[in-house]
Amino acid sequence: MDRASLSADIVETALALGPSGLGVGTAGNVSARFESGMLITPSGLPYENMTPDDIVFVDGEGAAEGSLKPSSEWRFHLDIYRARSEAAAIVHSHSPHATALACLRQGVPAFHYMVAVAGGVDIRCSDYATFGTQGLSNAILEALHDRKACLMANHGQVAFGDTLQQALGLAQEVEALAQQYLLARKSGYPVLLEAEEMAEVLERFKTYGVQEEA
Ligand code: 13P
Ligand code: ZN
Repeated sequence: MDRASLSADIVETALALGPSGLGVGTAGNVSARFESGMLITPSGLPYENMTPDDIVFVDGEGAAEGSLKPSSEWRFHLDIYRARSEAAAIVHSHSPHATALACLRQGVPAFHYMVAVAGGVDIRCSDYATFGTQGLSNAILEALHDRKACLMANHGQVAFGDTLQQALGLAQEVEALAQQYLLARKSGYPVLLEAEEMAEVLERFKTYGVQEEA
């Protein structure tokens, strides 16, 4: 996809954070892999005022192009693209329930089979590090091992996918799971699925949603 279309899709995805229940003010950021680096939302600019021309290109070495500063979280976005060849788009948000759980420094265990959407038997919570730092990037990469999403201690969540739509969809799933888990915990002790039960779900997820060619 060309730069103009990808930038327009990034703005559209950033604007969808609010209506998707993921957005709070200018919190969060959105990026997509592009050429040697990535295109990413600028830092601190309200999404409703953002145009495709405001989207910043950051090259593979971390050098930004243009007059606007890239998101303060450009490091972890770039490090995810470097470490995970399958990542083509990333959504970071401070969605309320994922953030609440991350403030307890807890991840989402196998209380529901859908935790498998993030790629494994749970969704981890990263260690805490200050926003915008290399330390945060390192903590996130560790929590993302064999996963496509994680919570970020005392901060929020991050999700990636093949497309911006997929990354946004996964972020919504993570938020819904965190909400369901917190709700279940208010009412008792959720029964966690066994390792074999989750292994069966992960196996089924390999073909779930894949329709046979007509
Ligand atoms: P930016 O506006 O710099 O992208 O920061 C928002 C944020 O969520 C920081 O973690
Ligand atoms: Zn943030």
